[in-house]
Order: sequence, then structure tokens, then C-alpha cells
Amino acid sequence: MTAAPPGDCNLCPRLAAFRAANRRAFPDYHNAPVPGRGAGLAARLLIVGLAPGLRGANRTGRPFEGDRSGDLLRTTLDAAGWPAGLVQVTNAVKCVPPENKPTRSEIAACAGYLAAELAGLPAPAVLALGRIAHDAILRAAGLRPAAHPFAHGAVHALGAGRTLFASYHCSHYNVATGRLTPAMFAGIFATIAGRGLGPPPTPRPTAGR
Ligand code: SF4
Repeated sequence: MTAAPPGDCNLCPRLAAFRAANRRAFPDYHNAPVPGRGAGLAARLLIVGLAPGLRGANRTGRPFEGDRSGDLLRTTLDAAGWPAGLVQVTNAVKCVPPENKPTRSEIAACAGYLAAELAGLPAPAVLALGRIAHDAILRAAGLRPAAHPFAHGAVHALGAGRTLFASYHCSHYNVATGRLTPAMFAGIFATIAGRGLGPPPTPRPTAGR
């Protein structure tokens, strides 16, 4: 399986039908699987969310672009010093699910694409946003989620010299309910840096003569 699903992937009949319904309701939207995007082979950090939001990635065709979760992720990355050229973003499930809730079988159906992404990108730091992404990454790496429990701030060795970091998802719902504060989210990136996997320091400008 390749990392990017075909635009007409129909492995999940419910999600394919939802895409078709959204094409009728929102003809200007992307309304197709949303592949990962970003630095590719140059990525030092791979961020994996749950699934495209209806009016976010499903509209723009780009993960974490077009809604408030994407805005919070971008501002937090900027504050942590991560340039776009070192970050890849994707989702565990590539198609928008009704009510942001993919089923277990839909997560499993899309796992091959996530596994191909993980295998093809050597980023040493992998950040899971939410339990579903966290467990999907572990399974894609051949590890048992039960042996590597999800918690906000959890850190697990992923094998092949890679480290998995876990955060609550930066969804608007989680922020609005206080489950994830911007400070908590920033703390995850501090943890990544504390493990020596943060962005390289920005070179200081040399003083003029
Ligand atoms: S969620 Fe993944 S496996 Fe399911 S239809 Fe979309 S691209 Fe295909």
C-alpha cells in the first residue's frame, strides 16, 4: 500500500458515501482522502492527528489547515521554533468521518496508508494527537497499544531509533472544554526538545563590522 490513498478509495463504504454526500452539499470542498503533507523525507517531526475535519482538511485538502485545531498547531509549532521545512503532518484516518468519529474497522482499513507513511519517513520524533492516532501508530510499528498506554505527555520508544510522544488532540472541543490548554500543548513540544529531538537552534545573526 502506498502512503497516499487514491482519490476514490472505497475501502470504507460509510466514509466513501459521506464523501459523496459532502460533494453534493459542499461542491467547493476537497471531499476526498487527505494525504499527509509537509517536509517529507526532510521531516524531523511527524505529527499524526485523527482524521480530517469536515470544514478543515476536508475543505482545504491539506491536513491541519482551515480550522482552529490547525491554527493552534501552527502557532504552537512556531512558538517552539519548528520551521515548516522540518515537519510533516498527517492523520490516522484519511477521510472525514461523520461527527469526527471513525469506526474501529475504518481505522483498521486506513492503517496500511499510515504504516506506509511511517515506513517511508525517517522523522525521529513522532507526535500522536489523541489516543486513536497514538494506538494506530503503535500498531503500524508492530507494537501493542496495551503495552504502551496513551496519556497526555506519555513517551514511548517506537523502534528504529524513533520516539513516540503523546498529546491530547488540539481540537477546538478539547480546548473549549479545558481538556487541553495551550500551555499543556506547548509543554509537549518542550518535552520533545528535552529529549534532544527539538528543532535545531536558529543561527544568531552575525554582528556587522
Ligand atoms: S479512510 Fe482511508 S481506507 Fe477508508 S476510504 Fe478513506 S482513504 Fe480509504
